Amino acid sequence: MSRNCLVCGKKLGILNAKTITSDGALLCLDDTNKLFGETTGKEHIGIKPTYASWVQKHTSAEIKDLISKNQTAILIAPDRCIGCGRKISAFKATITKDNKRICSNCIHKVFKDQNDTVNAWINNHDSDYFLAYFKNDRSLKAISKDKAEVETLFCPYCNSENVKPLGADKKSFSVGKAAAGAVLTGGIGVLAGFAGKKTGKTDFVCMDCGKQFKR
Ligand SMILES: [Zn+2]
Ligand SMILES: [Zn+2]
Ligand SMILES: [Zn+2]
Repeated sequence: MSRNCLVCGKKLGILNAKTITSDGALLCLDDTNKLFGETTGKEHIGIKPTYASWVQKHTSAEIKDLISKNQTAILIAPDRCIGCGRKISAFKATITKDNKRICSNCIHKVFKDQNDTVNAWINNHDSDYFLAYFKNDRSLKAISKDKAEVETLFCPYCNSENVKPLGADKKSFSVGKAAAGAVLTGGIGVLAGFAGKKTGKTDFVCMDCGKQFKR
């Protein structure tokens, strides 16, 4: 018995290459290739296991959403760029502090020019720093391995600029110094410091999504 592709509706029989979502829906070969933005397999030969297992871990709703927005799925593996998911050798990649690889294309989306300062900044920061800017289409200018210039404050989760320092109304609060007793989320965390600010990170809260982050 044949069933249909969740995106294009094509009938898929036992001989058609396809992937299966976590909720048991089928995705045809063409749509699987589209989902990853590259050739993941061929008809009658099958689809590469890493791609098939990515589909297996995601729902048909998540996949429909990505394809409708013309976005591609990002494969996460130690030998892939954290921005675009493409395979990249350690020699060609710039390596983050937490040992993740970033390709030049993805670096160019955040930093206008790639140079030694940019590479040193990336080497000295966790991948989450970079990804917050990358995913929200924002740019950074590296000043040194520690500092980057940031034009505006924004929430790394929802990209809103409606953020304010956590505990700003407490008298113990001072800019440049973390508010005492502030609750930290374990997640995406810290972003680049302000230009010219010498020490310390400040906790901020997003007024739109309510999440907390450091800057
Ligand atoms: Zn299809
Ligand atoms: Zn990349
Ligand atoms: Zn937010």
